[in-house]
Amino acid sequence: MSARPAPLLALVVPCYNEEETLPRTLTALAELLERCKAQGLIRPESYALYVDDGSRDRTWQLLEARHRQDPFCRGVSFAANAGHQNAVWAGMDMARQWGVDCIISLDADLQDDIGVIPDMLARYAEGCDIVYGVRNDRSTDTSFKRGTAHFFYRLMGWLNVRLIPDHADYRLVARPVLEALQGFEEQTLFLRGLFPTLGFKTGKVYYSRLSRQAGESKYPLLKMLSFAWRGITSCSAAPLRLAGFMSLLCMLAALVCCLVSFFKYLEGEVIQGWTSLIIVALLLGSVQLFCLSVMGEYIAKIFTEVRRRPRYIVEKTL
Ligand code: UDP
Ligand code: MG
Repeated sequence: MSARPAPLLALVVPCYNEEETLPRTLTALAELLERCKAQGLIRPESYALYVDDGSRDRTWQLLEARHRQDPFCRGVSFAANAGHQNAVWAGMDMARQWGVDCIISLDADLQDDIGVIPDMLARYAEGCDIVYGVRNDRSTDTSFKRGTAHFFYRLMGWLNVRLIPDHADYRLVARPVLEALQGFEEQTLFLRGLFPTLGFKTGKVYYSRLSRQAGESKYPLLKMLSFAWRGITSCSAAPLRLAGFMSLLCMLAALVCCLVSFFKYLEGEVIQGWTSLIIVALLLGSVQLFCLSVMGEYIAKIFTEVRRRPRYIVEKTL
């Protein structure tokens, strides 16, 4: 099989209030592009595309200033914060329109080791259309984050959702995949659940996750939990079925209670007391409420989908 020629690459970097990390990142990525160009791994027109996700700090000013010195630093800015997943999507979509052969998405804080980018490009040259960056060392994450992440991947496994364990949004995506993605119109994106369903020839490269160099994580606990819930409800309808399963269990329990009371009654032991009644009523009530809330969640999702709002609004480009 003949290797692919060096691609026109865009590095897609979502940025939200990253003024503290950005100067370092801009320099590191510019140097990386230079090195890869010198080694003939990518075409000389390759660039970095920074997606400013409605930052309120000096992120955009920093990008503008850098763009004036370095045309290979490009930028697009959203009118409002649209979220990390939409920022990555926008970057992929614009790069596709601007004619790239492949993109690599990575976080602005450089927690994903950019040293493995040449390996990703090597996989691309071998014919892979998606190359996943997989963390083989999470020691820089807190044990809480490691534990919850582990539980999340297990849970998704039980729900039959295909995920690449320990892969976040650090990945190379080649043009055929970028084009295929145009057909996906869902509003609530969960990219790491979407990519493994696409097929194509895929590869993996392993790296150790570094710690954030500066600034704070933009994913505090609540946002992480809501992102995990988005992942579950975007990729699986199992919770809806879980509601049905739980009601079946409840019905069984009620049946057993009825039988027990009936036989006790025959034996002359009258069951008295309202405690049991209250318990049953509460139990049923809570199960019903739970089922309702699960349905509500999916209906809310349908609501967001049918509104067909744009995922993001581009205000300026560099
Ligand atoms: N990010 C974004 N929009 C948001 C939140 C985050 O574009 O609403 C970007 C952020 O600038 C960073 C990446 O997404 O480049 C990952 O965020 P972060 O590093 O804070 O997440 P963590 O590594 O803590 O999970
Ligand atoms: Mg980070």
